[in-house]
Amino acid sequence: MIDEDRLYEIKALLDKREASPPHPYWLIGEDESLCWKCLHAKMPDAEIGVDFEGGYCWESDGCFHCEKCGRLLQFILTEYGVASELAHYAEFPPEKFREPDLCYHLARVAYGIYGADQVRQFLAITRAMLGDAQEDDSP
Ligand SMILES: [Zn+2]
Repeated sequence: MIDEDRLYEIKALLDKREASPPHPYWLIGEDESLCWKCLHAKMPDAEIGVDFEGGYCWESDGCFHCEKCGRLLQFILTEYGVASELAHYAEFPPEKFREPDLCYHLARVAYGIYGADQVRQFLAITRAMLGDAQEDDSP
């Protein structure tokens, strides 16, 4: 199977399995990312544009988690972020390819990789995913 076909299959699996995390928010003047719930717990009367910003997907060099509750938040990876996530997963290969938060991370990498080398690296990291794909089609 050629690399493009395998990449397409992996993307389809990730689309099916990935979490749909909430948007990040942050209080103006502070750089910690928060989920909506923790933002409002911290400042119940917070007004958008005055006290806080956010509510949209944000490009970053790494993933976002709520600094209070640890919940995964939406992100898009920069070129640097894609390269560093690839290096991370090459060093610490993921195993639980059915874990929604992991699939969300891997999907951000899958949609950001560029060029044959990164595709090959990504396919090596996710090789085990295709082996367990059959179960997805069972009722
Ligand atoms: Zn939170």
